[in-house]
Amino acid sequence: MTPTTQPQLIDRFGRQVTYVRMSITDRCDFRCVYCMDEEMTFMPREQLLTLEEIAYLLRAFCELGVEKVRITGGEPLVRRNVDWLFQHIGDLKQTTALKELNVTTNGSQLTKYSDAMVAAGVDRVNISLDSLKADRFRDLTRTGDLATVLAGIEAAKKAGFKRLKLNAVIMKGRNDDEIIDLAQFALDNEMDISYIEEMPLGHVSHERKESFYSSDDVLAELNKVFDLQPSISKTGGPSRYYQVANSKNKIGFISPHSHNFCDTCNRVRVTTEGRLLLCLGQEHSVDLRAVIRSHPGDIDRLKQAIIDSMVIKPKGHDFDLNVQPVLFRHMSVTGG
Ligand code: SAM
Ligand code: SF4
Repeated sequence: MTPTTQPQLIDRFGRQVTYVRMSITDRCDFRCVYCMDEEMTFMPREQLLTLEEIAYLLRAFCELGVEKVRITGGEPLVRRNVDWLFQHIGDLKQTTALKELNVTTNGSQLTKYSDAMVAAGVDRVNISLDSLKADRFRDLTRTGDLATVLAGIEAAKKAGFKRLKLNAVIMKGRNDDEIIDLAQFALDNEMDISYIEEMPLGHVSHERKESFYSSDDVLAELNKVFDLQPSISKTGGPSRYYQVANSKNKIGFISPHSHNFCDTCNRVRVTTEGRLLLCLGQEHSVDLRAVIRSHPGDIDRLKQAIIDSMVIKPKGHDFDLNVQPVLFRHMSVTGG
């Protein structure tokens, strides 16, 4: 079939939206200290988009020129029948602008799902890993088991994804002594790694200002050990990359505080309950679930609502660690 695309998602600042990050659940089997409170109240199930609604919504986006979809959460792989969803989104590559289907996961279910994900057309997987010490891993995730995640990483390597990348959030006094070990682990496993600055999203049980560790400080640590050259490669995301000398792999930094990435922002997010967020750091949003449920099957109306939303995409965000929290929604709702 010929791909049917009408690339029309251009905002007031001339930025074309080609990338959608879709959160498919706010639930998670971990409770990472920077992401969630120990006690979380999750959304009632009827508020969540169904898997059919998610597939339908993503079809609308991809018919409007979206080339890249990332499935995230919460923990996306704890959503029941998630393999059905991957299959449906993977099929959009045949009929729409979609070129790349990616997933962000904590790795706990990768032994179960890696093969099915590759078969469905999942291209790239980002796996969060903040520590290589079992006790500390448990402390940081509150419930996670390091051995399970390491087994998941092995399964993902064997399954043959196009690219695997690690994500590590570095927190002062919690895991900053593992910056080098995490990079070495990534390189030994022929994976890239991105270091993420902690973002003030939602209430958590520590003072964000005290745990904040900047990407520049991570880079300074890494430079003591590795020969890093700034890389020109772009992934369409907010990462800055460095090529590691004598290696195929790269080290990246996602730093919303120190390096503003809004000028080239090509992305939007959709929350678990179908709220289209035009910016991670602002509240501008459109209720797409209401459109889907009040006009079932009318995909043109849904597409028009998405096109109309482009006028409220703000110029940029303005995170400030002195105001805590900046936004009341947790990353698990927004989709990281
Ligand atoms: N559960 C999956 C995982 O952990 O990879 C996907 C969702 S998680 C919200 C996506 C990414 O956001 C993870 O890499 C996580 O480390 C990161 N994250 C969560 N809360 C964050 C925060 N407050 N600041 C920076 N990164 C955060
Ligand atoms: Fe769960 Fe991912 Fe948040 Fe950790 S970062 S609590 S794994 S959603």
